[in-house]
Amino acid sequence: MAFLQLSGVEKFFGTHRAIKGIDLTIEQGEFVVFVGPSGCGKSTLLRLIAGLEAVDGGSLMLDGRDITRLPSAQRDLAMVFQSYALYPHMTVAENMSFALRLAKVDKAVIAQKVARAAEILNLTPYLERLPKALSGGQRQRVAIGRAIVRAPKVFLFDEPLSNLDAALRGQTRVEIAKLHRELGATTIYVTHDQVEAMTLADRVVVLRDGAIEQVGSPLQLYDQPANRFVAQFIGTPQMNVVELAELPMAAAQARNAAFVGVRPEALRLTDAGRGQIAAQVELVEALGAETLVYLHTQRGAQIVLRQNSRTSLAAGDAVGVDVDVSHLHLFDTEGRLLATAH
Ligand code: ATP
Repeated sequence: MAFLQLSGVEKFFGTHRAIKGIDLTIEQGEFVVFVGPSGCGKSTLLRLIAGLEAVDGGSLMLDGRDITRLPSAQRDLAMVFQSYALYPHMTVAENMSFALRLAKVDKAVIAQKVARAAEILNLTPYLERLPKALSGGQRQRVAIGRAIVRAPKVFLFDEPLSNLDAALRGQTRVEIAKLHRELGATTIYVTHDQVEAMTLADRVVVLRDGAIEQVGSPLQLYDQPANRFVAQFIGTPQMNVVELAELPMAAAQARNAAFVGVRPEALRLTDAGRGQIAAQVELVEALGAETLVYLHTQRGAQIVLRQNSRTSLAAGDAVGVDVDVSHLHLFDTEGRLLATAH
């Protein structure tokens, strides 16, 4: 049986239907990421699971127990927020042990749990410090430590890294992945950053306008997006989606196709006059390990190409583009997937 089961979950804010009948099953030990553009409802969905918002319809089952109407404190979940929400007058150890002390857990047990969490999170040298004497990354680790000591059934993370700078975000992301491997705890993680979603998740749930667009492993979403929205949300730079007329040879793969999607790495530069597409270079981004070449086609579409080698091309140069036709995605006028060539 599923560990956490959401059935027909609904949420209204006034007349606005923010969450539209979500069905989702999460297994024990899974790392599930909710991702989607701003306002799609991912934080609301997490808060409904946490019990911080009341559901207006549907049900939530956790480990065989109906938690739909249970107060947050009785759900056996721990949430880590973007704002770390640490108590400023308490030391790291006191912050981490707060919930256990409140629950009157034995002192020796608390000390042991805090020591273990601090060890996992590399916080042992900081246990007696106040939050103000810590870096942003260390504070975020304390907030995670506070969740770990409670050994909850599910960890809930709401954009925990968005206050950190890029380098620290990358580093903390790796730590969260390691932590999940060590603890094997069921985790739900909300982010608008699709790279975080791809690198952390066992399964990604892509949300839009309060509904699920697709659920799958990161590479399933990348290779077999269910529609144009998912195709262009997952992957940077995003998938090129052009009118079928740009790539007429793709038409044979599906009737009713209106648009063709092709990832930047499925395109290859060739000499002007060769390849399936005639184009002109608009911009070259040399990133070192890879090069992004932005082009506009003779028919007027903007496309981007990714290659692992460098280029001497410059803006204005005429080029040809070879398309790997075994990696095309065909969409109808509504953006629904009709066929994927693989
Ligand atoms: P972001 O990445 O910007 O945080 P999100 O996907 O987490 O976005 P939510 O915060 O879940 O989005 O919001 C979903 C929708 O519900 C939005 O349209 C938002 O304006 C609305 N909403 C969220 N909380 C409330 C509230 N307390 N009252 C009224 N509307 C709300």
